Amino acid sequence: MRLVVIGGVAAGLSAAARAKRLDASLEVLVLEKGDQISYSACGLPYLLEGQVRDWRQLVGFTADEFLGAKNVSVRTSTEVAAIAHSRRELTTHSGEKLHYDKLVVATGARARCPEQCMPLHTLADGVRLWEHLRQTPPARAVVLGAGYIGIELAGALRARGWGVTLVDRSEHLLQRDDTELTATLRRVMERHGVRVLLAHNGPPPEAELTVHATGLQPNVTLAEGAGIELGRTGAIRVTERMETNLAGVFAAGDCAETLHRVTGSPTWIPLGTTANKMGRVAGANAAGRRERFPGVTGTSILRACGLGVAFTGVSQAQARQAGFRPAAVRIQSRDRAAYFRGRPVTVELVADCETGRLLGGSVLGEYGVEGRINVLATALQARMTVEDLLGLDLAYAPPYAPVMDALLVAAQQLVKEL
Ligand SMILES: Cc1cc2nc3c(=O)[nH]c(=O)nc-3n(C[C@H](O)[C@H](O)[C@H](O)COP(=O)(O)OP(=O)(O)OC[C@H]3O[C@@H](n4cnc5c(N)ncnc54)[C@H](O)[C@@H]3O)c2cc1C
Repeated sequence: MRLVVIGGVAAGLSAAARAKRLDASLEVLVLEKGDQISYSACGLPYLLEGQVRDWRQLVGFTADEFLGAKNVSVRTSTEVAAIAHSRRELTTHSGEKLHYDKLVVATGARARCPEQCMPLHTLADGVRLWEHLRQTPPARAVVLGAGYIGIELAGALRARGWGVTLVDRSEHLLQRDDTELTATLRRVMERHGVRVLLAHNGPPPEAELTVHATGLQPNVTLAEGAGIELGRTGAIRVTERMETNLAGVFAAGDCAETLHRVTGSPTWIPLGTTANKMGRVAGANAAGRRERFPGVTGTSILRACGLGVAFTGVSQAQARQAGFRPAAVRIQSRDRAAYFRGRPVTVELVADCETGRLLGGSVLGEYGVEGRINVLATALQARMTVEDLLGLDLAYAPPYAPVMDALLVAAQQLVKEL
């Protein structure tokens, strides 16, 4: 029995390793078109900033190491050109035919940008940029696209002392229809010396270096060609078991959509943490188990020039679109006791007026942002109401939190609005 996995990063390798662990008799083969596998794209902004010294630190395993550690064969520089599912056969770009019994498609996403642009998506992109910066440090750099990658990248380049302009066509940062959030983030970034140009439709400003962080799309051409159905999001439609419409063919990671646990609709939120978890489930099911991936609540975090910015669930606008009748509050508090160098923290909470159910929130601050957003993400997953949140027994000691945590302060406000 042979399982073939297409794609050798987060989702693909999680699937391959899990399948092999659960069924040692399975022959597992990973095909990866690039020359590296098992790397952390999430670390690329920190490589460019200089916090990670060498790109090799971002690589978890080489193909040989993966074989040694997981007993899974990986072929790099091997691109799959076509899938003929009726014959359970793959054709590589070099024309080689390979048989599979089970298949996991983990082809990720691709950067949306014009030909010849410099994106920051793959390890190869990051290394190219890293080497370019070492050889030709730019006096001025432009980052196009103010999503989380653009913002992290702009902060990283600015930290190296170069002049950085962050440009976006939209009037908002992070593609969120949130004037207050945009104003806060903009203020923080400008304080760090990043010039922020929003609602900018003209040609990009002059600079020695221009990097595109202008968005992603699911990489589904191969899957589509094989008759694998896509969902409304444009990514591969999968069941809870990560199976596609073709029996025995699974998909996971940035190429696949999943269920949004707050809205109950399919969603496409391409993140490494989700890719790993989806991959594990796809691998388990490909190995004959029955496991399910429960979906996501849309939790994410980024660092914007030292400010932690985190989200979970839906914004007020998204909640309205999803058919809820939302109320929202945004409060300012402190991350620790004021007398213990407490720093400002902003919490936004969104809830449904009819049921009191929590629908989403955001946390902005220097410290403790991940802890607070994770409490909220857990609350969303448990379908808690604002009252439930208010009743949580959260930890307090002056070096870590104020006596009334910022989440509880926000919940206190929000119950008054419902
Ligand atoms: C700069 C940056 C920062 C990020 N930061 C974060 C973060 O902080 N937190 C977070 O959760 N996520 C983050 N992400 C997102 C995260 O890296 C991705 O969600 C994750 O890598 C997705 O894993 P994947 O395996 O689905 O896809 P990918 O990592 O894209 O891997 C897919 C692989 O499939 C290969 N492939 C494609 N087509 C073929 C084919 N036909 N034949 C053979 N191989 C093929 C590709 O070469 C690729 O190596 C970041 C991404 C970037 C770029």
